Amino acid sequence: MQIARLSRVTWINATQRLVSASCISFHALRAVRLKSDFPTRISNCASAMDSRNKVICLFDVDGTLTRPVQVIDTEIKNFLLSTLKPKTTIGLVGGSDMKKITHQMGGGDVWKEYDYVFAENGLVAFKNGEQIGEQSIQAFIGEEKLQTFINYCLGYLSKLTLPVKRGTFVEFRKGMLNICPVGRSCSQDERVTFTEYDREHKIRETFVADMKKNFSHYGLSFALGGQISIDVFPNGWDKTYCLQYLEKDNFQEIHFFGDKTDAGGNDHEIFNDPRTIGHKVTSPHDTKSQVVKLFNL
Ligand SMILES: [Mg+2]
Repeated sequence: MQIARLSRVTWINATQRLVSASCISFHALRAVRLKSDFPTRISNCASAMDSRNKVICLFDVDGTLTRPVQVIDTEIKNFLLSTLKPKTTIGLVGGSDMKKITHQMGGGDVWKEYDYVFAENGLVAFKNGEQIGEQSIQAFIGEEKLQTFINYCLGYLSKLTLPVKRGTFVEFRKGMLNICPVGRSCSQDERVTFTEYDREHKIRETFVADMKKNFSHYGLSFALGGQISIDVFPNGWDKTYCLQYLEKDNFQEIHFFGDKTDAGGNDHEIFNDPRTIGHKVTSPHDTKSQVVKLFNL
């Protein structure tokens, strides 16, 4: 036991020296993350400009940069734009549409403030203030299948009794359907009530299992989104969709930060994608402290 512990410490120390020695490759960093709990560091890049060209920090929005459905704290926003952006490229990737991401990020021209902004998992993509991509679920799946699926969901939801039910049970987005058993127009208190009820009764998990059973042949994926809903989208249209744009720009390290990284969460795929170095966070302040550690800020 002691020997095993010693060799692990030695391995980590050796790795630490390796990382410190140079701005090491993405693959080596990946190995570090998989083999130890030592935080992956970016150090000794030749210059800040070097780091901006080679390294990107890609952030989930809800729960990662903002508290759930809240607007970003000024302190976190200033940290991203004034402290971090001069040192590295910054991207946002959210499941919400551009309007909601803009609101949560404090308004203004969000797509110009950050180097990359990927709304709806990247189906709407911006780089340096310009739109570089757009895709839609209806174009991909076709109206007939879409309606069959929506009708099925409304039928399933009509049979559920919950603590409260409000409105907007199916929200149609460009690249996904957001299915919400309590209804998206619920109040903050009703949202909390549903979240607790869902934790105990597994409403969303059971619904997802049912949809998987009945609609796997549609090529659809299902993920728990936020506190109250389920995201439904074509296979591969999770947050990994946005990575195609970053691959083209040849980043050596793509650091992804997200709060829903466990299986079934909407950050799970991108967190585990071999192209990224994943960082699991628990709150906006945890995100900030992990970034501070990573960059020695
Ligand atoms: Mg999140």
